[in-house]
Amino acid sequence: MRVNMHTHSVFCDGKDTPEEMVNEAIRQGFEILGFSSHGYSPNDECSMSPQATLDYIREINRLKEAYKDQITIYLGIEEDKTCRIPSKDPYDFVIGSVHFVEKDGTFMSVDYSEEMMEQILKEFYHGSFLCYARAYYKEVTELAEAEEVDIIGHLDLLMKYNDKEKWIRFDDPEYLETARACIDAIGDRKIYEVNTGAMARGYRTMPYPHRTLLAYMKEKNLRLMLNSDCHDKTKLTCGYELSLRLLKEAGFTELWILKNGRFQPADINLFH
Ligand SMILES: [Zn+2]
Ligand SMILES: [Zn+2]
Repeated sequence: MRVNMHTHSVFCDGKDTPEEMVNEAIRQGFEILGFSSHGYSPNDECSMSPQATLDYIREINRLKEAYKDQITIYLGIEEDKTCRIPSKDPYDFVIGSVHFVEKDGTFMSVDYSEEMMEQILKEFYHGSFLCYARAYYKEVTELAEAEEVDIIGHLDLLMKYNDKEKWIRFDDPEYLETARACIDAIGDRKIYEVNTGAMARGYRTMPYPHRTLLAYMKEKNLRLMLNSDCHDKTKLTCGYELSLRLLKEAGFTELWILKNGRFQPADINLFH
């Protein structure tokens, strides 16, 4: 089974048109492809304008119909706390992702660049990664309160530039406590994604969330899905092999998919 529910295109910051992505997904034997353009946010230059949003909805719905005999396409959106969608209609699913931390009305991007992350640390949190982590996870916990959110996007995105543990150890007890408190607060109300996007772009050798958190999520019996956060059609399954191995090692026997319009579990051994 091949599935990806986190796909970007030229409608936001992706490289390819949705139709190019669909054709490549069909070529690679995908059964399900969900599009999740960045919903409009005035703070986010990567997000779709209100007009582009209307064009995006029209185009994905056109593709759904045009390719319905070859692949199931879903219309989704990746929304941020800084700008929630006004209504879940017409979307099939919503990914809730935190890309910004805010202090005194200024929004700073968590994942834009390592330089910006350093600036956030210095100017917002006096160089304390733990204070930064607490602020980030507070935003995630708050966004998860949004009823329309189905999937929690890239849970530990703030670790994007920490692959070599330059800023903090992945098993730092206080860091883990902060992340676990966020997971506890959200509980099983949402599906969490394992996201390989930073692997595709060479920032990380591991997916989000780190395996230290995957084990905790298994302990809590939470629902996970595997997504590539794809911005380039050649990377549709980037990192899937490693992620599936990590998930199996953590004890997961099933992953969640959207099928026939309903979230449901599927045997992890079916995925590749
Ligand atoms: Zn994102
Ligand atoms: Zn994304």
